Amino acid sequence: MSPEDDDLLAFIDEKDGGGPPARPLRTWTLLIVDDDEDVHESTRFALRGLEIEQRGLRLLHAHSGAECIETMRGEDDIAVVLLDVVMESRTAGLLTVDRIRNELRRLNTRIILRTGQPGQAPEIDTIRRYDINDYKTKSELTRNKLYTALTTAIRSYAQLCALEESRRGLEQIVASSHHLMAHDGLQGFAAGVITQIASLLGIPCEGLVCAGTTDGHAPISPERLRIIAAAGCFSGLVQHPVSEIGDPVIIDSLTRCLREQRNLLTERSATLCFSGHDDARFAAYVDAPGPLGEIDRHLLEVFCTNISLCADNVELVARLRHIAFFDTLLGLPNRSALIQRLDQCQLDHDAPEQSLALIDIDQFAETNDMFGHVYGDRLLADIAARLRAALPASCMVARISGDIFGVLGRRELISPERLLPLFDAPFVIDGIERLVSVCIGFARCCHETGNGVDLVKNASIALKRAKARGQGQHASYTPEIGEEARVHMHLLHELRQAFGNAELSLAFQPQISLATGRAVGVEALLRWRRRDGSFVSPADFIPVAERSGMITVLGTWVLRMALSALGHIQAAGFEDLRMAVNVSPVQLRAPGFARLLKDVLAESGIVPGRLELEITESVAVMGLARSAALLGEVRALGVDIAVDDFGTGFSSLSYLDQLPVDRLKIDRAFTALLDSHRPGARIAEMIVPLGHRLGIAVLAEGVEYERQAELLREMGCDEAQGFLFARPMPLDELLDWLRARMGPTQ
Ligand code: C2E
Ligand code: MG
Ligand code: MG
Repeated sequence: MSPEDDDLLAFIDEKDGGGPPARPLRTWTLLIVDDDEDVHESTRFALRGLEIEQRGLRLLHAHSGAECIETMRGEDDIAVVLLDVVMESRTAGLLTVDRIRNELRRLNTRIILRTGQPGQAPEIDTIRRYDINDYKTKSELTRNKLYTALTTAIRSYAQLCALEESRRGLEQIVASSHHLMAHDGLQGFAAGVITQIASLLGIPCEGLVCAGTTDGHAPISPERLRIIAAAGCFSGLVQHPVSEIGDPVIIDSLTRCLREQRNLLTERSATLCFSGHDDARFAAYVDAPGPLGEIDRHLLEVFCTNISLCADNVELVARLRHIAFFDTLLGLPNRSALIQRLDQCQLDHDAPEQSLALIDIDQFAETNDMFGHVYGDRLLADIAARLRAALPASCMVARISGDIFGVLGRRELISPERLLPLFDAPFVIDGIERLVSVCIGFARCCHETGNGVDLVKNASIALKRAKARGQGQHASYTPEIGEEARVHMHLLHELRQAFGNAELSLAFQPQISLATGRAVGVEALLRWRRRDGSFVSPADFIPVAERSGMITVLGTWVLRMALSALGHIQAAGFEDLRMAVNVSPVQLRAPGFARLLKDVLAESGIVPGRLELEITESVAVMGLARSAALLGEVRALGVDIAVDDFGTGFSSLSYLDQLPVDRLKIDRAFTALLDSHRPGARIAEMIVPLGHRLGIAVLAEGVEYERQAELLREMGCDEAQGFLFARPMPLDELLDWLRARMGPTQ
């Protein structure tokens, strides 16, 4: 700053008669830059006692371009620079302008160039480029002209500053909206509003109160208004009624503002009204630093409108959040909420050890189909209520998906012994009792098990395991079954690709009549040959396809291919052969299986009696009535039914009697024992007469030796299949094999 400052103060004092100013005098700061001391003197003289736009003038002085820049660095509110063009060099003035604009980035400051002679005038485009306000020769600048030029420049400076301030304010409002939206509820939001108003007005966060109506319809009074957020000396009053604020002016301002629903701006304060939804109306009281200027008032209005919208959104966000974490049908937390809680548990190292159980209702889809969705919803609600009532509040009961509940709690509470008995008593809906069984998958939460998502995945793996065992089962997650599940997932992924890449094909193994030695049928067996030539055993990939449900698509494809192959076999002259196709219980259970079978048969033109479906004893898990009904539909089409791997499953004799079965296939494990004295050696011998007694034909699988065939023949076994006669082979090889064995005219 130049030493002339003292002079400047003297100048102001002089105007006010030497006494202290009655009000803080606001001034415009002007910087006079000239290497000629006389010019400084005359300017000072010319401006003495002048006021522009109701403000006095404060003069700073510099005698070179460099000094001008230095002075400006220390002053950020210079309205006008009166700048000499020629100083330390011919271009010193213009260089200084360049530095003011580009180096100091003072874009609002107005610049008036003064030069000694007319010839030193800068080019017109220089004037534009540097945003130079005016250009005058020194002789032109009489007191009057100087006054006019300065007035124009100062007005222009004031406008530019106002624009900048309001732009900055608007930017801040937009930024604060973003910031405020992140708040959880109205309380956090209101606290945010206080901070934002303080920063908008550039005042400390003191003396700020936000009060809201608790009931949008009740008359507004200080007793009914609650303080939802406050700062500084008022912060202890949060949640208290407004009537407890010590200052009657503030109480009155807040009450009137909300009652009249408008902003109240006074010399001392600003009380702002934010009206969102009916119930979300609130007001903020702020101690103002002094009379609020036009821009501040304008900004506050914009802020209020903007923030009112924001308040609505905060409510919306809160509601969305509720929906996102809450199951509305059952009034329980949902999967996301459970995962969030699990994540928290994992972080809390001091919490007691927890376990997670996933409870799946057996045959819920069937119940829904049979009794309707309203009934299904009631059942779910009753189950939710029973779980909630039986478990302490510390346990979380959540709905994970359709008919799966998640229960999280201390390890000793989350056990099969505690949870399974909860389903012993029937549920009574519409006066009808109904027993419900569930499968449960358990997973322990420990710090090695990963995050919430991983834990739910682990429990799901255990649940799948339990469901595979049948109804009413439970299983616990172990790293081993986790690894197995991962291998399965990988295999399933590969299988899907293999299916698309035509890596799957069928092989056919002949079935021989033991009496005649001739082929009476073939069994279609699925083959997966990878691109590298390696084979994946059906024993490995069929269970994966079954568990994922992919078997239904795969099985239909097998059925079509097998019937098409049978068409070729018949066309080659072997018309009496039947085609045996393996069918998984999952396929059989899928809705519309009989219809599909009928359509595929019709497409192929094959007589239904030439097709045999091989089912395993595991169909029995569906329950006798259901399996009998499904197999009855198949039988009604004229298709034969064989029980595969007979003797290994758990079907009882009474089942056999009641199911429509045409053939029993003795499992190859028993065939292998035929010629031995080991336990099981006589099973085959018992199956043959049993089948015959029930009118069912018997086929022995896995016949590898002539001696086995001989023994089976002696027992009266009807048919056999095995490496002794032929290995499973592709269709063209099978046709060659048939031609060689049975002659071309068969
Ligand atoms: P499966 O239906 O009992 O098929 C007989 C299995 O025994 C076949 O194994 C066959 O290659 C094998 N085999 C036949 N003769 C002999 C023999 O003399 N000795 C020995 N050691 N084995 C013999 P593969 O092809 O590996 O099939 C395994 C199982 O995979 C099948 O058992 C069947 O349950 C299932 N599978 C195969 N294809 C399909 C299919 O298209 N759909 C369904 N759902 N399951 C299939
Ligand atoms: Mg089979
Ligand atoms: Mg078998």
